[in-house]
Amino acid sequence: MKLNILGCYAATPRSLNNPTAQVLEIKNHLFLIDCGEGTQVQLRKSKVRFSRINHIFISHLHGDHFFGLPGLVSTFRLLGRKTPLHVYGPKGIKEAITLLLKLGDSWTNYPLLFHELTSSESELVFEDNTVTVSTIPLQHRVYTNGFLFKEKPGQRQLNVAAAEKYSIDRCYYQNIKNGRDIRLEDNRLIANAELTFDPPKPKSYAFCSDTAYTTSIVPLIKDVDVLYHEATFLETEKDLAPKTKHATAKEAASIAKAANVGQLILGHFSTRYKSIELFKEEAQTIFSNVALADDGKEFQL
Ligand SMILES: [Zn+2]
Repeated sequence: MKLNILGCYAATPRSLNNPTAQVLEIKNHLFLIDCGEGTQVQLRKSKVRFSRINHIFISHLHGDHFFGLPGLVSTFRLLGRKTPLHVYGPKGIKEAITLLLKLGDSWTNYPLLFHELTSSESELVFEDNTVTVSTIPLQHRVYTNGFLFKEKPGQRQLNVAAAEKYSIDRCYYQNIKNGRDIRLEDNRLIANAELTFDPPKPKSYAFCSDTAYTTSIVPLIKDVDVLYHEATFLETEKDLAPKTKHATAKEAASIAKAANVGQLILGHFSTRYKSIELFKEEAQTIFSNVALADDGKEFQL
């Protein structure tokens, strides 16, 4: 699993600060999460193949999280895209994007499918045989969801040495990987556990931005490998956090600790601060494994 941060700053784009967008590579998918202004340029800089993006997840309809979407949808058309594009986001996103397409008489020549979200409970929004994606309802000034991306457990892995020890024909190898026991010609039954190794532990990634500090998300993100949690402010501005429904670095760390996550990545920094290192220092007073997002930064998860 690989996470590519395209932008991780709050509010307005600046010469060195892009608003929220990230690309998650999980199994054979390339998921785009939020699409702030400038996302296309950041995708180009990161050498992401546009044609590999088939699913876009939008947390909420504040401009710094989706103003890049109409441009990207339009570029896909200019690039001659034929494959369907699925967009998951709050109710209203379809109207917002299709109005622009209608006024410009520039309908897509590929299927553009909106999956509008309205539930205040967590819901499964995407599933195939390798991954699931579900929503994490957040507390913000407008209807907002984070997203939880989870790998499904893979197949058991064949212990070739064990299979050869029992002279098992190769034509049974797929059955073994599927979890079947094997009966030998002398009628002995060999348990599957003796012929296989456990598959690698499935990984999980939770994206939580934008949100006020809320422990309601803790049960949903319990034990995830990596949590991205917004930290718009430091504790010096902690009175601003609840007013604007954002969180501080320390609050993000408290959530990470309560949910027992493997690693915390902080982002959505207000550009009022000179150095983002202060966010890490503040969070580490509560939770040790903290990393800072930054535009163009890549994480192997
Ligand atoms: Zn917002």
